[in-house]
Amino acid sequence: MFKFLREKIKNWAGKISKHEEEKAKEEPRQKIIRDAPKDEKRESFFEKIKSKIQKVKISEKEFEVYSEELEMLLLENNVALEVSEKIIKELKERVVGKEFLKKEIEGQMKDNLKEIIENILVEPFSIADRIREKISDQAKDPYVILFCGINGTGKTTTIAKIADHLKKNGITCALAASDTFRTAAIEQIKKHGEKLGIKVVAHEYGSDPAAVAFDAIKYAKRNFINCVLIDTAGRMHTAKNLIREIEKIAKVCKPDLKIFVGESITGNDIIEQIKSFDWALGIDGIVLTKADIDEKGGTALSVSYILKKPILYLGVGQEMSAIIPFDKEDFIKKLGL
Ligand code: GDP
Repeated sequence: MFKFLREKIKNWAGKISKHEEEKAKEEPRQKIIRDAPKDEKRESFFEKIKSKIQKVKISEKEFEVYSEELEMLLLENNVALEVSEKIIKELKERVVGKEFLKKEIEGQMKDNLKEIIENILVEPFSIADRIREKISDQAKDPYVILFCGINGTGKTTTIAKIADHLKKNGITCALAASDTFRTAAIEQIKKHGEKLGIKVVAHEYGSDPAAVAFDAIKYAKRNFINCVLIDTAGRMHTAKNLIREIEKIAKVCKPDLKIFVGESITGNDIIEQIKSFDWALGIDGIVLTKADIDEKGGTALSVSYILKKPILYLGVGQEMSAIIPFDKEDFIKKLGL
């Protein structure tokens, strides 16, 4: 996972360290010998010089060269331009003109990047905690989660994974088969439900998705089920009438949480996708699927910085257990920082 970005960052920091070391080696030698006193002060003079050549300073001009390479590697790995510019601007403020110990420069670069990325990523919240808050409030209504996204990104699979994850955390769930559009969608979600022992409320193909979701909520209320997860038909973010349809589902069901599901491997296009759904629904959180086959990793950074929305989970495979709550520290570690 995120192998390319991790390796590129490592090489980049290593190259800076090497370059600075070379620079420090060449620069002062001639001058030291020329300036060295001939008397007894000679020894302390060399001590001073030694500590000086162990330190390096990055000039603005040098930083420009380093940052060009950094920008390229970020862009190549799905970090949006706006975000890579922000990272470079912050890094510049932190390192240009500052003195670093030569042997620490690689670590210092990585530490600075780590802190910058930490600040960019939005702190996620726990869905299970949110549900518990609502149900401990003696609310008779279940907690309702509406899922949206485009076709084939792993939405239905993610719903099943989250329901399973919640069930394992003592939260009962029902699923609403509100993708009444795609031929195999109802069968697919019913199969997941059967395997997991979770009720799926479904109508016929072509029926009103809002009515299905409404019935699922009614079922949950009657049966004291804690949470309803609503699947919806995948739709392109540009299909205005379909976006209106999902707005209707939201109006009828008044979800507590609206989650966008998108692929980690999508790259910058995901920003436009989420913006459209956010405009129509107001997205609360994001699940990035297929992180297991994403060698780049930049999508998470772009989404967090540009949209200021938390990533709640990463999908990491096709099995039901292949979902991990998003953790900032863990993500940063995966980038080798
Ligand atoms: P939907 O059309 O958005 O509902 O997508 P589906 O849930 O039908 O998933 C589409 C394909 O993506 C299926 O083959 C899933 O098994 C696969 N998939 C879903 N999530 C992940 C994931 O996190 N990693 C990988 N590698 N495949 C996934």
